[in-house]
Amino acid sequence: MSKVSFLSTPSYEESVVYTAVCRHFQEHFQALPKPGMRVLIKPNLLSARKPSAAVTTHHSLIAAVIRCLLEIGVTDIVVADSPGGLYNQEHFRAVCSAAGLIRPDIEPYLNRDFSYGQVRPSIAAPLVHSYNIITPAITADYIINIPKLKTHAMTTVSAGVKNLFGTIPGLQKPDMHRRFPDISGFSKMLCELAITIKPDLTILDAVDSMEGNGPGGGTVKHTGYTFASTDVFALDIAACRFMGLEPMDIPHIATAAEMGLLPDGIEYSGDEFSPSAQPFILPDATKSTSFSDNVPRPLRWAASKVMDALLRSYPHVDRKKCVGCGKCAESCPQKIISITGGKATMPRRGCISCFCCQEMCPAHAIGVHRGLKNL
Ligand code: SF4
Ligand code: SF4
Repeated sequence: MSKVSFLSTPSYEESVVYTAVCRHFQEHFQALPKPGMRVLIKPNLLSARKPSAAVTTHHSLIAAVIRCLLEIGVTDIVVADSPGGLYNQEHFRAVCSAAGLIRPDIEPYLNRDFSYGQVRPSIAAPLVHSYNIITPAITADYIINIPKLKTHAMTTVSAGVKNLFGTIPGLQKPDMHRRFPDISGFSKMLCELAITIKPDLTILDAVDSMEGNGPGGGTVKHTGYTFASTDVFALDIAACRFMGLEPMDIPHIATAAEMGLLPDGIEYSGDEFSPSAQPFILPDATKSTSFSDNVPRPLRWAASKVMDALLRSYPHVDRKKCVGCGKCAESCPQKIISITGGKATMPRRGCISCFCCQEMCPAHAIGVHRGLKNL
């Protein structure tokens, strides 16, 4: 049985968020870090977007976690992530600046070490022999994972498990997409990475969440809650239920079940758990799988594979919105995107439908086309 604390957190006002984090800490009191430990705070810092865009973990939550850690005597703290794009100080600072992290109570803790090392999964017959992981995640004695609740064009849901993909440095993330181009392999890799990183506590920012074409181009949805758990898989199950989704329909949750990683049950604490008033709108790229909702559950995987082959989604550039910045080309694992005449062109041949390009586009210029529609 795993515990998920679920607390009304109606706004990002500092006192509101601080009160919620204090209560989450009380709920998980026995599992908190001890003075002398080195603690990594791992937010979602996907790209240089303002806090109001709901792409990144809100700075007030990061500040509240630091404040609560200091109050229990933990002072060796680092805030680190590997945003999309290059993994270096300049890019990290630019993303932190846009996300509001350059403030006196956060800035001293921002990561300054942009090296990385190798970590082997401690399981038999791993999918990946060893993962390249950012150094702060390797040297930490205790990891606090602080994801943002979002929809995701490839994984459907981005919460605790998906946030850990940001421990892979810079442009090695597109490499992982190239190695695991389909969702089943990618989900298995995500689950293996999660048990390799082993976050000690995950606190989910679902004050303002994202629905639609997440994780970078969706719509802000005010949901007014924070969640916390020492079990990142239990937290993701709770997040799916909150979004109005059946957890076992989400690829990485179904994969975690096959790998024996899910808890036998979830005990909720804090406020009474209830799903969001309106189910989340899913990304266009994942809607084709809704066909399988009408198929008996044991046949859903097979049905969704057939539909995936028939209705596979591909990115499509809106040339009026494209500003020719090249961020899509930089993030494409297949290196098939070119910028000509100040506009991006992305051919379907070679595309693995990972939607890294859509994720990184700052102009919301990348939409989705389905396979059959364009034959
Ligand atoms: S599609 Fe988006 S990311 Fe790509 S060049 Fe155009 S504006 Fe930039
Ligand atoms: S074009 Fe976009 S969706 Fe296709 S492989 Fe490149 S980044 Fe992924």
